[in-house]
Amino acid sequence: MKTLCLTLISAILLITGYGQSADSLLIKKIFNNTLTNTEAYENLKLICEKAPGRLVGSEASIVAQKIMQAYFKKLGADKVYVQEFTTDAWVCDSASVFIVAKGRNIKSLHCDALGPSPSTKPMGITAQVVEVKSIDDVKMLGSEGIAGKIVFFNRPWDHTFISTFYGYGNMVDQRAHGPAVAAEYGAAAVIIRSVTNSQDKYPHTGSTRFNETTTPAVAISTLDADLLSKTLKNDPALKVNIFVDARNLKQISTYNLIAEITGYEFPDEIIMAGGHIDAWHNTQGAHDDGAGCVMSGDVLRTFKELGIKNRRTIRVVMFMDEELYQSGGRAYAESVKEKNEKHLFALESDGGAFTPRQFTINASPRVLAHVSKLQPLFHPYGIDDIKAGWGGVDIDPLQDQGIPLAGYGTDSQRYFDMHHSANDSFDKINLRELQLGCGNMAAFIYLIDKYGVE
Ligand SMILES: [Zn+2]
Repeated sequence: MKTLCLTLISAILLITGYGQSADSLLIKKIFNNTLTNTEAYENLKLICEKAPGRLVGSEASIVAQKIMQAYFKKLGADKVYVQEFTTDAWVCDSASVFIVAKGRNIKSLHCDALGPSPSTKPMGITAQVVEVKSIDDVKMLGSEGIAGKIVFFNRPWDHTFISTFYGYGNMVDQRAHGPAVAAEYGAAAVIIRSVTNSQDKYPHTGSTRFNETTTPAVAISTLDADLLSKTLKNDPALKVNIFVDARNLKQISTYNLIAEITGYEFPDEIIMAGGHIDAWHNTQGAHDDGAGCVMSGDVLRTFKELGIKNRRTIRVVMFMDEELYQSGGRAYAESVKEKNEKHLFALESDGGAFTPRQFTINASPRVLAHVSKLQPLFHPYGIDDIKAGWGGVDIDPLQDQGIPLAGYGTDSQRYFDMHHSANDSFDKINLRELQLGCGNMAAFIYLIDKYGVE
């Protein structure tokens, strides 16, 4: 029996390796800490309550950065600084959509402007509606069918996709490119069905790629899209009134926020974690992406509190303007290039704070093979996959410099219920799921710091 026990123990040590068991213990220590600490949750509450609607260029976007800046200083980060840049921005003050009958607005639909939609005249635009399911439909109808009308993109979500990100990808062309194409054929305005799998009253906004157009564009809730479609079937000559009050801001000054703890062995090698601080004008942006910001910030807290000595410099970035023009990510990558900073690895969280699922890696096969060996260490904490995939919008411009990128991935089933809508509020955050995210991000950064990427 004794011999059997000894053989078993040696076999286990051989399989796991001493290093891995020491890592397991340290990772458990990290999780013991994050699962009993509420600072990330409290930071997120502050950002959501004090800085809702923090689109780039808004006062709220700076309030949110200042909340995180004060927090990083309080933590005792070695460096806390801002990285200024200029970008265009956009402000939306109000929007409305009404079904019109006998010259009167009779039914209000839940709506929001897409960014950066232009304004309408004060009385809005009243016109007949042509419902389409795709951009190809618009091209087929041509100017004859489109000019002077309100184009209503109403292709619904395909519920057969298991990952909701695929469902989103399958539907979002209507919002991203539909308005510009409809404008080319002379559309008076554009309505899109909210890009969400949920049937509810919330309009879900988002960015649309305008080519200097004067065609206003709005999203209506999925319930109202169904209602409008049904009403149109009974009365194809039906008119709708759209009103948008919004304005473009040219070349405003804003910034990314950066906090670091310096590495003791390779201070010039940087491992980055981050999220985007901005959120659409209609939302608290709790999951998208306040959660990514506070979980990234919590990596510094965990290192500090547990006295983990990092070999490389751990840098946390609160990116500005992921939503509208993605200017923060570009400014960051330009600065990395300009200063010739050595980035070993960049991790982004922009998929909400739900149950942990995976890390996706956008790097060479060699880096992927090396990093995915860490997967067994994450198994107890809900990460069952470290695989090739997307890093994140903000870190994506770093790809050109050959920097390995990674994204923290959570269970996607509820994300688009909230995405870009007033439904993405702090009460949708589960403390425990957020804490698990903090633990996984800190543990991942710890292991990359210890073992490098290849
Ligand atoms: Zn986001």
